[in-house]
Amino acid sequence: MDDLKNKIKSLKEEAFSDLNRVDQLSQLKELDRLRIKYMGRKGAIQSIMKGLKSVDPKDRPLIGRLVNSFKSEFGAKYEEKREELRQRAEQERLGKEWIDVTLPGVRQRSGKIHIIQQTLDEISSIFKGLGFSVADGPEIESDYYNFDALNIPKDHPARDMWDTFYIDDQTDRTVLRTHTSPVQIRTMERRQPPVRIIVPGRVYRNEAIDASHHAVFYQVEGLYVDNNVTFRDLKGVLSYFSRQMFGDNLLVRFRPSFFPFTEPSAEVDISCVMCSGKGCAVCKYTGWVEILGCGMVDPAVYRYVNYDPEIYSGYAFGLGVERIAMLRYQINDIRLFLDNDVRFLEQF
Ligand SMILES: [Zn+2]
Repeated sequence: MDDLKNKIKSLKEEAFSDLNRVDQLSQLKELDRLRIKYMGRKGAIQSIMKGLKSVDPKDRPLIGRLVNSFKSEFGAKYEEKREELRQRAEQERLGKEWIDVTLPGVRQRSGKIHIIQQTLDEISSIFKGLGFSVADGPEIESDYYNFDALNIPKDHPARDMWDTFYIDDQTDRTVLRTHTSPVQIRTMERRQPPVRIIVPGRVYRNEAIDASHHAVFYQVEGLYVDNNVTFRDLKGVLSYFSRQMFGDNLLVRFRPSFFPFTEPSAEVDISCVMCSGKGCAVCKYTGWVEILGCGMVDPAVYRYVNYDPEIYSGYAFGLGVERIAMLRYQINDIRLFLDNDVRFLEQF
């Protein structure tokens, strides 16, 4: 009986010194091994319990209490160790995630909407506010829509105004659209008046590229056809647009011009935004800068879309988006828009 008591006592000492030696994170497995060694089904405690049979029955309760206290003390120490190791692992993890909050931040570069798109959006929103809706059409166009239906027959000298990229050399029937006007025809073919649309889009001209000319640029076309649309309506809408775009104190003038698909036609000038009309290099010392072309839709155009010119009338206009942006932001070279130089683009 004393043998067994001593055995339990020394087992306890051994077990606790085993547990105390476990203090490394890597020893979680070792901790588990100790639990099995002492408490497992084939562990030290179980073998003592087996020896209980040979103990005098009156001494058994005492041995039982010793075994139970061993179990509970071992269990408590085991849990304490486990918790200690778990906390140490957590601290190590946090240590690795340590950040210096005094370091300067890493600047996130945000993307921007291209200056041309910004200008397009602004132009569109002014006309949308006047009841225009946005229409769209193909950039690769047939010469019927690009020229013929706009009253520009094959031999018409006006075709020289648009230096055209032809896609199909054999027949010359397919072109990169030279203006957004074909969308006028496509829209009128589909719908009866009233038609009140703007057409923002990219156009192409076979031009020598310099500071004021590019082979690729953007236009916004406008068209309004209904009963009794007059030149006065056109003047009102374009004067309003010019002032919204460039400022209230602007002078606007309409100068007679020629386009094959409008009659009468006009070009719209505004008082120079650089010198307020006093005269400078931008306005070539005239005090005026041209911003768009316009006119009353030529009745000949209605023939192509089966509108009755006795019933309907309308106006059309077209403006160059780069031109508007150049005047607005005092940019002196059209090539900058397509160069994709971030130093230029991030200014807007
Ligand atoms: Zn000027």
